[in-house]
Amino acid sequence: MILYNSLGQTKQEFIPHTAGKVNMYTCGPTVYHYAHIGNLRTYIMEDVLEKYLRFSGYDVNRVMNITDVGHLSSDADTGEDKMVAGAKREHKTVLEIAEFYTDAFFADCKKLNIKRPDVVEPATNCIDDFINMISVLLEKGFAYIAGGNVYFDTSKLDSYYVFGNMNEEDLAVGVRDSVEEDENKKNKADFVLWFTKSKFDSQELKWNSPWGVGYPGWHIECSCISCKHNGEYLDIHCGGIDNAFPHHTNEIAQSEAFLGHKWCGYWFHVLHLNDARGKMSKSKGDFLTVSLLESKSYDPLVYRMFCLQSHYRKPLTFSYDSLDNTAKTYDKLIKRISVLSKDGVPDKEKAQPFINSFKEALDNDLNTSLGLTCVYDVLKADIDDATKLYVISEFDKVLSLDLTKGETSQKNCCDDEISAEVEELIKKRTEARANKDWATADAIRDKLKEMNVVIVDTKDGIKWHFEKHQT
Ligand SMILES: [Zn+2]
Repeated sequence: MILYNSLGQTKQEFIPHTAGKVNMYTCGPTVYHYAHIGNLRTYIMEDVLEKYLRFSGYDVNRVMNITDVGHLSSDADTGEDKMVAGAKREHKTVLEIAEFYTDAFFADCKKLNIKRPDVVEPATNCIDDFINMISVLLEKGFAYIAGGNVYFDTSKLDSYYVFGNMNEEDLAVGVRDSVEEDENKKNKADFVLWFTKSKFDSQELKWNSPWGVGYPGWHIECSCISCKHNGEYLDIHCGGIDNAFPHHTNEIAQSEAFLGHKWCGYWFHVLHLNDARGKMSKSKGDFLTVSLLESKSYDPLVYRMFCLQSHYRKPLTFSYDSLDNTAKTYDKLIKRISVLSKDGVPDKEKAQPFINSFKEALDNDLNTSLGLTCVYDVLKADIDDATKLYVISEFDKVLSLDLTKGETSQKNCCDDEISAEVEELIKKRTEARANKDWATADAIRDKLKEMNVVIVDTKDGIKWHFEKHQT
């Protein structure tokens, strides 16, 4: 397989450290809010990569952290702590916030057919491991204590700007949110490994350490959790491109200083999802979540297909118009596949050339849009239905679009009679609730559930849609 490697910025033949085995690491979510669909684009493309590696016969071990402590909103060593800010916003404890949004994240992943990584490790489970790694960095002279905090000393490295295109200007961008310069730092690029002098009086989660009561910096999490579960040699590290600097740069600095050798062979970075205003973020424009798409009657898998239609290394622009186009394409495709006859035995010899074309597409730096084209080539081909269904279900091990389920995303929404009945029931339920007639309201709720109707309260009133997988 040929993969673009951000380290070296070229396409390279993928060769894992141990033949046949792939150790893979993914920066997980900071669980202070729902993930927006821009974040989820990264997880979808990483999921395709993981599944394709498995499809190619590799034994994959994929590890993901959950950031449930100390992620500063500027991504430099300043700004507001995202977890603390989330807890304040919702009048909950940090741990309650973490648990709620961890569950919400995996619920979204499930809807998008994103497989759960083999290991999911919350940062708060690994405090002793962080302390151990920081102690080793101090012993080896790669870290220093100043003003109560432990810092990584970037001047001790042979090279710090590992992704090639970084220079002093980029570094300035990385720390631009810093209003006050941290005077403890020996070098501008140094970063905190352990805080005891917190700027946040409200910091809830603190632990004892050899350097005083405090909490870990963000970057140490990923180095440590990867080494813990993937061992000393990591094959592929994944993440959004916005994490390349300073987060991934700092991960490499720490890990290689700790291990004393090269750590990770390949860096897989997914580009941004933009909207009309530019890069999507939680703080500006519509906060686009999977639930919001569902409330507008989109099947989450339509969004997955939307992502697969473009290459992971190109920025992708989201609009409802383009999502509508994908929804139509998806429905047509599912319909075409649903009429294929399930009778007969697939001819695996005839199937092979199609599987080879699919592999050729994905082997070329994960060209998913060409992979989708392969599905159409199969449908057009002069082979029997059973063989077509076999090939398409093989592709779907990687694409994960439920291609052979035989259901379109709009199945029931087109049925006006049922829709009218649902609207009527929702109206009656709202009335019953207003009259505090809970028995009737609950009975209607159960009836709607039987009909596979999902009700969503939005700021524009109650919206509903049919649950995706009906039986
Ligand atoms: Zn990370």
